[in-house]
Amino acid sequence: MKYYYENNMLLLEGGAKEHTISDIDIYIGKDILKNTAYYIEKRELGKKCLIIADSNTTRAAGKDLTELLCRNGFDANVCLLRDRENEKIEADELSVGQVMMSLEPEPDFLIACGSGVINDVTRFVSYITGKPFVSVGTAASMDGYTSVTAPMIFDRKKVHRHGNAPKIVVLDTGILKNAPMEMTIAGFGDVYGKYIAKADWLLSHIINGETVDEEALNMITQALEKLTDNVEQIARATDEGLRAIIEGLILAGITIFTTGQTRAVASVEHNQSHIWETRMLEAEKPYASHGTTVGCSTGYYLRMYEYFKRINVKELNREEACKRLLDRTGFRNQAVQCFGEGFLSILEKTNRCLQLSEAEINRQYDLILNNWDRVLKALDFLPSWEEYKSIYKNFNQTIHAEEIGIPTDLLRYTLMYSTFYRDRYDFVFVMNILGVIEEVVEQTLRDYHHMTGTVPCLDSTSLQFFCSHC
Ligand SMILES: [Zn+2]
Repeated sequence: MKYYYENNMLLLEGGAKEHTISDIDIYIGKDILKNTAYYIEKRELGKKCLIIADSNTTRAAGKDLTELLCRNGFDANVCLLRDRENEKIEADELSVGQVMMSLEPEPDFLIACGSGVINDVTRFVSYITGKPFVSVGTAASMDGYTSVTAPMIFDRKKVHRHGNAPKIVVLDTGILKNAPMEMTIAGFGDVYGKYIAKADWLLSHIINGETVDEEALNMITQALEKLTDNVEQIARATDEGLRAIIEGLILAGITIFTTGQTRAVASVEHNQSHIWETRMLEAEKPYASHGTTVGCSTGYYLRMYEYFKRINVKELNREEACKRLLDRTGFRNQAVQCFGEGFLSILEKTNRCLQLSEAEINRQYDLILNNWDRVLKALDFLPSWEEYKSIYKNFNQTIHAEEIGIPTDLLRYTLMYSTFYRDRYDFVFVMNILGVIEEVVEQTLRDYHHMTGTVPCLDSTSLQFFCSHC
């Protein structure tokens, strides 16, 4: 499905012209903040609004937004989320409470002026109160602008709450490009991670016959092409660069709407990011933003995909592989290092992938072997790890999980077991079935540590199951 613009509104070829998707109007362009009053009037949302912002987003857009709305006859109040000294503002009880307490005088609609946290809080309050909301983005940092779920913190734990999608999204590249560079790189990482999601979806389609939505896949492919074509522009934070990221993030959000699931946009790289966030929160340690962790995860999984493509499936030991998965105690002792006790116990109640029978493992094993050549062919589009490294070098952004606060041991186990976070087929699950996951993870970690000079690099041809010719 191709997309185009009409008066800065993103439209889908063959779709209705009134809205971008469902009843959401998405505007992307340079210097379009000034049109916000017109966009709102078009949707007849009313005249009284509450703008939710923090001190940074007030500077970035909130002040101009308030002034222009007042000039256009709107009655605009502001709920300024309180700065928390050394801690970042979270989508938690305090933020929700501040917004709820600001609902007097009663507004007709809300405006989220910000990115991740501010949109999550606003979409949640919008859902609870039934007030529609408008999103004015200040950073191209995450793919949740059109989401209907709000990742939040409740009682210091990560939870997901229902939320409304906005009626209008205004993404002014002139504002987005002024966001801190690390937020822009986070947005890049969140889109770049779709390489893994796409590969895993194709792999599942070939091995398991999972249905692939061609239009969603095509949209993700367009997003990735535009992203990688604009790496230079992104590094320089130009309008074109920011447009490439924000379009990618928005297209990803649209596929969730059109397919009713997150298959096209999230796979094992997102699992790992969620687990890191949960575990760091549990340990009361600071954690990096969603896009930063997804981007970091993607690097490790791109390297692991390179090893995956080199597996010589004829040389594998099926018996050993089965034994490892069927040794419930041994397997659990490992998986618990990824998820932690409480988290794993919850997953064990629902996730079928954590209760594989011998017959199922064998069935999977055969399916993988029988389709191996087709799988390899489908993975040709994946970028190399070298390419990934050079992009992140260009951005001056670390690719090492340890440098964004993840302990090596947690990294090791999330790389191996994050596939068991949900029943979604991916290449890490395949490597668990084939019994090669531990070796591939250790080799990948050695490659990363070799870059920092802490561990000598081993010649990967010494690994027994790889094809010697590649
Ligand atoms: Zn994401």
